[in-house]
Amino acid sequence: MDELLSTKNLGRGFSIQSKKLQKLNLQTISDLLYHIPKRYEDYRNIRAIKGLRIGELVTIQGKVMSFKNEYRSKRFTMQKMIVSDNTSEIEVRWFNQNFLLKLFMTGDNISISGTVEMYGRVKCIAVKEYEKVNDFTETVHTGKLIPVYPLTKGLSSKWLRSKISDLLKEPSIQIPEFLPESILLKYKFPDLKTAFHTIHMPDDFEQIALSKKRLSYEELFLIQLAALLRRKEWEKEKKAPSFEILTYKDKINAFFELLPFSLTTAQNKALDDIYTDITKSIPMNRLLEGDVGSGKTVVAAIALYIAVLNGYQGIFMAPTEILANQHYDVLQKFLQPLGVKLKLMTGSTQKKDIQSQELPADILIGTHAILHSKMDMSNLGLVVIDEQQRFGVEQRALLRDKGKLTPHFLSMTATPIPRTIFLTLYGDLSLSVLDELPKGRIQVKTWLVPNEKREKGYDWIKKKILETDEHGNKNQAFIICPFIEEKEDDDFDPENLLQESSVTIKAATKEYERLKKNVFQKFNVGLLHGKMKGKEKDEILSQFEKGKIDVLVATPVVEVGIDIPNATIMVIEDADRFGLASLHQLRGRVGRRKRESFCLLYTQSHAQSTKDRLKSLETIYVGAELAELDLKLRGPGDMYGARQSGAHTLKIAHFSDFELILESKHDIQEILPIIQEYPRLLEKAQKILHMQKILPD
Ligand code: ADP
Ligand code: MG
Repeated sequence: MDELLSTKNLGRGFSIQSKKLQKLNLQTISDLLYHIPKRYEDYRNIRAIKGLRIGELVTIQGKVMSFKNEYRSKRFTMQKMIVSDNTSEIEVRWFNQNFLLKLFMTGDNISISGTVEMYGRVKCIAVKEYEKVNDFTETVHTGKLIPVYPLTKGLSSKWLRSKISDLLKEPSIQIPEFLPESILLKYKFPDLKTAFHTIHMPDDFEQIALSKKRLSYEELFLIQLAALLRRKEWEKEKKAPSFEILTYKDKINAFFELLPFSLTTAQNKALDDIYTDITKSIPMNRLLEGDVGSGKTVVAAIALYIAVLNGYQGIFMAPTEILANQHYDVLQKFLQPLGVKLKLMTGSTQKKDIQSQELPADILIGTHAILHSKMDMSNLGLVVIDEQQRFGVEQRALLRDKGKLTPHFLSMTATPIPRTIFLTLYGDLSLSVLDELPKGRIQVKTWLVPNEKREKGYDWIKKKILETDEHGNKNQAFIICPFIEEKEDDDFDPENLLQESSVTIKAATKEYERLKKNVFQKFNVGLLHGKMKGKEKDEILSQFEKGKIDVLVATPVVEVGIDIPNATIMVIEDADRFGLASLHQLRGRVGRRKRESFCLLYTQSHAQSTKDRLKSLETIYVGAELAELDLKLRGPGDMYGARQSGAHTLKIAHFSDFELILESKHDIQEILPIIQEYPRLLEKAQKILHMQKILPD
């Protein structure tokens, strides 16, 4: 089942389409079978031609009596077929599909699904699907429940349907069961082979639902099992230094006294979690999650200080050089007065440093460059990884191999991941959340603006831009327009805002033109989107930063992460297209300098539920809370968190399948002690374990 498609002799079709298949991530037979339809067309209404009524969706099956092309104009041709069964005959029509003439001959058996319509005064069938068959019991595209697949351009559902149905009919393909019999019995699940048959060639919707549930279950089961196996492995084989804390109580207190602030309750709670972990010899594997500005760095600094007090070294890794520099300055400020030696190591720092054999400091701060240094890190006690969701298994192994012991790991992220998702995907990680901002932080005032007040909203922005505050600072505004991926309608995925394309619902470019011409005529309006060249982008951003642009129209993909001091207004168009967590992150781009800031949300939706959902941003200011709420309100909805972290997202199951998640979690606990009895299950889970690009290993 895991064989590559191209290696199987399944007809040349596969290699011809291999690029497109790759785009859909379909490379093995297994991938193809797990590519499940997103809906079904019901073409089961098989009818005699006699007595068809206008408007009915039917399947007729008969013989081709005649077929001809009718030229209407250069651009418009019509293909007319007469089909007859033993009750009557009817005209069947296609438009602009000249090639069909070559496919059918008089006397062929044809099965056609379509609607009965009047064309002028002629009753005929407007075709939705057709196929030539030897035997009417063998239809694939008509006369049944017909799967419709998620697609990519140039790859049709019909093509996929044929291939998948060929695959399932191919006797040489083995589809062995791997779930324990007891589980199949417990839920009355079909076995894997039956489930695939049902999903791709179904008879009724009930069957489909149960098969889909089975596939969802196994997906959740395997992901969680993989995480637990990883955790077990981690805890069994590795030994970490267990740190003393009480012994160094005074010194740790001295650190707190040097701080110009006292910690928030959330920070203290996170620290308690960390203390519990690092005093054990099981390596810590913890994620610290908190919005930008929630104060993760100081928590990490304390943990690092404890490692140093215990005679161990620490590493602090940042995703970029700029951040590494910044962290270096901050930690220096915290720790240098206490006698801790820090060292910065990035691609730009001296080569001689990288090649020197000894760790020249207590704490090494830097980028990935650290991983490739030849320094002696045998005394490594704690590794802090900031915002490096893609910190993989190999990188971790590199660090582990440097020391005799396994260091404790603390990862930090500002990406809100709902707890349910976290528990499913990252069952091997412990979680601490900073769900509170330090006192005195300003909250970005947020409003959902009714459409009838749109103009008023613009007037207010204009007024704001012209105003200056008591320090003479101006205001600038972002206007974010969501880009929508251009794909066949069938495959429209409004969640996936991370992919840009030229076709949009409200294209940023169009909106930019409109605003420039009709709204902000007297102001400087700029445009920023992902298709622009790096240089162009930098130029626009720098103009915005210098205040030469008042209003910047941008797409959400654009990294506007840089700090624009006077950007105090964030407008988000079609806000309903975003998840709450994404909206929260977008509004985090204003209000950075303790200046009163505003977020205006617009939507074209009239649904009360949508408005209520957006309105929650007016009162909730914690990313993690919004992410959780999103999951509840929108179900499978916004996968922002998981997408951002590059994590394994679910293909079939949904994170909102709370019950199924809990059930599978419970079942795993029972199976885990006897997992060796299920080698195929173990093998599957291990495969996922190695495939998964997940947070910090
Ligand atoms: P992030 O979680 O985004 O990494 P930082 O650690 O950079 O946040 O902290 C943001 C700012 O808040 C820093 O200037 C930091 O010194 C400050 N800070 C951290 N904790 C507190 C606190 N408890 N009270 C006040 N300011 C704090
Ligand atoms: Mg930070």
